[in-house]
Formats: sequence, C-alpha cells, structure tokens
Amino acid sequence: MQEKDIIIIGAGLTGLTTAHYLNKSGANFHVLEKMDRPGGVIHSATENGFNYEEGPNTGVLGTLEVVELFEELKDSCELEVAKDEVNTRYILKEGKWEKLPSGIMGGIKTPLFTWKDKFRILGEPFRSRGKNPHETLADLVKRRMGQSFLDYAIDPFILGVYSGDPEYLVPKYALPKLYNLEQDYGSFIGGAIKKGFQKKDEELKKVTRKVFSAKGGLSSLTNALHQSAKKENFSFGVENIKIQQKDGQYLVEGQQNRQTVAFLCKQVITTTGAFALEEMLPFISATDISKITNLYYAKVIEVVLGFNEWKGRKLDGFGGLIPFKENRDVLGYLFLSSFLENKAPKDGALLTIFIGGVRKAYLTELPDEKIKVIVEKETLDLMDLPEFKPDMFKIIRYTNAIPQYGVDSGERFETVEYLQKQYPGLFIGGNLRGGIGMADRVKQGKELAGEALK
Ligand SMILES: Cc1cc2nc3c(=O)[nH]c(=O)nc-3n(C[C@H](O)[C@H](O)[C@H](O)COP(=O)(O)OP(=O)(O)OC[C@H]3O[C@@H](n4cnc5c(N)ncnc54)[C@H](O)[C@@H]3O)c2cc1C
Repeated sequence: MQEKDIIIIGAGLTGLTTAHYLNKSGANFHVLEKMDRPGGVIHSATENGFNYEEGPNTGVLGTLEVVELFEELKDSCELEVAKDEVNTRYILKEGKWEKLPSGIMGGIKTPLFTWKDKFRILGEPFRSRGKNPHETLADLVKRRMGQSFLDYAIDPFILGVYSGDPEYLVPKYALPKLYNLEQDYGSFIGGAIKKGFQKKDEELKKVTRKVFSAKGGLSSLTNALHQSAKKENFSFGVENIKIQQKDGQYLVEGQQNRQTVAFLCKQVITTTGAFALEEMLPFISATDISKITNLYYAKVIEVVLGFNEWKGRKLDGFGGLIPFKENRDVLGYLFLSSFLENKAPKDGALLTIFIGGVRKAYLTELPDEKIKVIVEKETLDLMDLPEFKPDMFKIIRYTNAIPQYGVDSGERFETVEYLQKQYPGLFIGGNLRGGIGMADRVKQGKELAGEALK
C-alpha cells in the first residue's frame, strides 16, 4: 500500500487541472484513471491530413482560470483562437440557413423572429423579475422575450451547448449568468448594457469569450497538463475503484492489470461523472448518493466528416444549428476547418455533426449504417453537396455526454456540500456541479486544488 496526501480520481480536464496546480504547490498526490490515456472526453486525432476531435471541438475563453492556464502552459501547448474574420453563426429556419443577428439592425431585419416578438422585445427592460427560482429556461425566455426568440435563438443555442431541452433546464443552475442578469438588473437587455459599461480590470479584460482550441487539437492541452503534473503521478487503466474510510483517512483500492493497487490518503478528490459515484463511495448512504447520481446525461453521437475537396456551400462561419422545431435528424454542423488552422487539406473541409441529445435520444440507439443514411441525406440537402463522398467518416458515441442541470440541481449541489462537511477530506468535483464547459472545468479543477491544499 502506498501513502499519499491526496488521491485524484479521473484524468479528464478537471482532474488534470487539479493535478497541475497540486504539483505546482509541491503536494504529495496521485491520479487514478480508468482509461489508458489522459484527457477524459477530450481526444484529438490526426488521419490523412485531417486533425479532428472525438469529444468537445472548441471551448470559450469564459473564465480567467482557463486564460491563465494557457499562459502557464505556453511552452508546451499553444492556444488557438477562432479566426477573427469568421464570426457568423447560422440557424436553420424553414429549411434555409439564416444568420444569427448580432446588432440592432440585424435584429430588426432577421426573419428568425416574428414582428410581434421584435416589438415585444422593446418592452423587455420593463417586465418584472421572475419570482420562481425553478422556472424553466423555456418559461423564462417566453416570459421576457417571446416564443420565436425561444424557438430560433435560445433553443438552438441550448442544443449547441447542452444538447438539451429548454423545457427541462433551469437557468438558475444551467445558465446562472443569464439568471443573475434578470435577478440583479431586472432585465437581460438592461443588465447586459450596464455590465458592458462596467470598468473591467486588466485581468478581466483577458476573459474575451473568444472561441478556443489548442494548436494540433484539444489533446495538446490535456497532454501538456499531464506532462506538467508529472507523468509518474498518474496510474492509468485502474478499474473498480472503491474508497473506504480507514482510521480517519481514506483507503482507495482498484484493479490494474488484474492486480490490486491500494493507496492510503488524507484527502480524495473525485472528478468523474455522477454515474460513477455509487460504486466508488460505498460508505455514503443510498439516499444521499442518489441525490447526486440521479443527474441526467444527454446521449450524443458525433459524426466527423472530412473532404479532401469541398464542393458544397460556402463554409463562411462557425457552423449552423438546427432548432428542434425544424424537425430534422441532426442537431447542427460545426465548420471546424473554416475557423481553425490545419484541420483539413487545402481546399478541403472538416465538419462535425451532432445527433441525438435529450429530445432525440432514440436516434443514438440506431446502428452505424442508419446513422450514415441520416448524415448523407441531411448533408446533401443542408450543405448543398452535389454528391456525398467524404474522404473520412467517423462515428463517435457518447452515452453520458452532457449533464442536464434541471430542477434537481439545487438538491444535488447541497448534497455535495453536506457530504464534504460530513466526510472531511472528501471532495466531489466533476461536471455534476460548477458548469459543463471546458472553461468551467478548469476553474473547478484549480479551486479543488486550492481547497485540498487548505
Ligand atoms: C461530445 C461532447 C461534446 C462537448 N462539447 C463541448 C464544447 O464544444 N465546448 C465545451 O466547453 N465543452 C464541451 N463538452 C463538455 C466538456 O468536454 C466536458 O465538460 C469536460 O471535458 C469534462 O471534463 P471532466 O474532467 O470533468 O470529465 P471527463 O472528461 O469525463 O473526465 C472524467 C474522467 O474520469 C474517468 N473515470 C470515470 N469513472 C471512473 C472510475 N470509476 N474510475 C476511474 N476513473 C474514472 C474517465 O475515464 C475520465 O477520464 C463536450 C462534451 C462531450 C462529451
């Protein structure tokens, strides 16, 4: 049995960030990971001139922690932000791609929203605050902005971020910044304007909210973290991990190459999905753990298409999202090669397509041949392709892709707090709380390291 001060379970972006900061502080720690590589759902690959992602494709520089992390790792991993000139996002309406408007004129002219809602939006700053903290996103948007804003702005945005359903997500937990705009300023528009005028210090100016990746793919980031946290501090391929209390400490046991590995530690930090916790933490009561493990995850299929020569519509944007109302079998397209460098051969294209999500989970049960038929039909139609002959075609399936922060989230967050108090030295992290995006994961990873070092 080895003795360590801190054990981290999971070497995804959260666990890797925690490990990076613990290592910087000279802590005595070790990371146990089920898979045989670091990165968790982040996995980039290169094949025949295409550099693609099997998990998340891009993040948003939305927290200071992610900006600082890239600065710290700049010798081993290069931040890549989306090309400035590519800033259009498309939304499908009645089978036609429309630009998502950004300015006032665009907002007036766009066919995405009804005239009634365009006029209605003028009254948004004067509408009273919502009083129900558990109001769904759909109800909040309908109340403040109108049905067409829900259908053709928020719904596709939610598909892009959560693969989710606005009728299920609760803004207090799923989109706290939006929720707080209404609670703090009484209005989305008024709040956004006031916030825009607030003076930002130099640090906050770095949080540009630009779309990011890393040169060579997002695995460059997770590999750099693995390296900086020192490879000898990691064990991969460790399965059936169980944590038990022992003499005021924690005994962490697992199986690696059919042998038992065991660690005695003062603190243990879990960064796995909620679904892994029941088996891992047998000393927690079934009632308590179920308040965490009942978290619902969207199922998603990601299809990567590579073309050596692109003959379809001009890929002059980030991509296109497809509102649920349009009743299509794909959630949207990301034109990765149009805003990041070296993703496809010159004159070629790399596209990522998402299928399934909360409202079309049944599509994720279809076999590969059927998925291929869907992708061919939709792509020929939506991308104006004369023929469907991709040079690369990959199907990646995620059963527990994106956690859905619904009405039960408050109870989940409280249970985590309660358990951490009840069992000193236990930290329950991961995307079951603290946000689902990569920038949130980095923020939490750093915070977990800080809490453990306290
Ligand atoms: C398909 C997809 C697309 C996404 N797109 C975006 C996007 O565009 N932008 C964005 O910002 N975010 C996106 N995300 C979300 C983002 O990628 C994740 O929130 C983030 O990478 C999760 O990091 P993590 O370390 O918390 O979890 P994970 O990456 O899931 O890492 C958890 C680790 O724990 C390990 N583990 C699990 N159970 C055990 C166990 N019992 N024992 C040991 N180890 C275990 C896993 O193997 C894994 O390595 C996407 C996610 C998915 C799945």
